[in-house]
Amino acid sequence: MSSKQNSCFNVATQLTRLGRDPGEQHGFVNAPLYKGSTVIYQTMDDLEHRRSRFTYGTAGTPTIANLENAWTQLAGAAGTVLSPSGLGAVTLSLFSTTKSGDHILMPDSVYRPTRNFCNGMLARYGVTTTYYDPMIGSGIEALVQPNTSTIFLEAPGSQTLEVQDVPAIVAVARQHGIKTIIDNTWATPIFFRAHDHGVDVSVEAGTKYLGGHSDLLLGLVSANAESWPALRATYDAMAMLPGADDCVLALRGMRTLHMRLKEAERRGLDMASWLQARPEVSRVLHPAFESCPGHEFWKRDFTGSSGLFSIVLKPGYTREGLARMLDHMAVFGMGFSWGGYESLIIPFDCAQYRTATSWKPEGLALRLQIGLEDIDDLKHDLDQGFARLK
Ligand SMILES: *Cc1c(COP(=O)(O)O)cnc(C)c1O
Repeated sequence: MSSKQNSCFNVATQLTRLGRDPGEQHGFVNAPLYKGSTVIYQTMDDLEHRRSRFTYGTAGTPTIANLENAWTQLAGAAGTVLSPSGLGAVTLSLFSTTKSGDHILMPDSVYRPTRNFCNGMLARYGVTTTYYDPMIGSGIEALVQPNTSTIFLEAPGSQTLEVQDVPAIVAVARQHGIKTIIDNTWATPIFFRAHDHGVDVSVEAGTKYLGGHSDLLLGLVSANAESWPALRATYDAMAMLPGADDCVLALRGMRTLHMRLKEAERRGLDMASWLQARPEVSRVLHPAFESCPGHEFWKRDFTGSSGLFSIVLKPGYTREGLARMLDHMAVFGMGFSWGGYESLIIPFDCAQYRTATSWKPEGLALRLQIGLEDIDDLKHDLDQGFARLK
């Protein structure tokens, strides 16, 4: 099904059509799974000129191309490359916009493994990083150096959910010829079309909502026309690609992505409102709530919210009380990652590693991922948990 045909449809319809073509698949609804390294050429001349739609397994297969092309269309990009994990996608994006001697700007609220990559690997390759307050907006101009090549954004931020003023930061970057990369995992292109807002490169941990079942690790990096050649060249130089089976799982997840995100939004808002009214809770850090830093930017630029948010408890609760609460949850699980069908809850404390801002909450902080369980079962589980907290 051609992308021209698809672009006239609304996004939910597009998601059901992208990356497959029954006319080319003996009529079967879904595309076949291609695994492979070697591609056979018909003539010596074809071989010498790499005259073939697919040239070798690392350069792509029909299965990989289906997912890449679907995502390109969904994100409104010029092209997409895949990675075996979300973190792999982040590092690929940064390798595509930096070289030795460059300086980059990173939000203080960035996903922690991204921070570790900048402080470790990028530093060893001669790229220096300055962390900035995610709420800095156009004030970021004061941090630009002659060798600044990249401004990285993540909206909302990991754990603390600050929503950045993306257009203001993009405007500064454009003025200085600096590339922008955003980690758009929380919103996905369904709720925030980063390239439409001028961002050059957009990263998605497909592990989260695209996979949707916690059985898959995958990253996707899309780029606008200007940044696409460098991104593709970087990918081709490293050839770190996901397995074909995981691409098929991601294409399957894509069919229900819109529906699952809308449901995650509804449930996230319901649970966040319920938590906001609890006597144990001081603040809800959910982009759709006024108590979340950058709520006004979310309202202006995003078209929805997903099912991941945080809360700050009132002062006075102890670590021991929190352990009593979390060790005995019946429905909520404790674990990293999110975007699956199951609800998760974890404590967090960013005070130790943030450097441009200070995280001094009035009480203990928790991050919640709301899954597809019955809402009343989830509320009951938290209600019982709060009783143990005291
Ligand atoms: C989970 C996550 C990643 C990394 O994805 P993995 O597939 O787990 O490596 C990157 N960015 C954000 C914002 C994430 O939440």
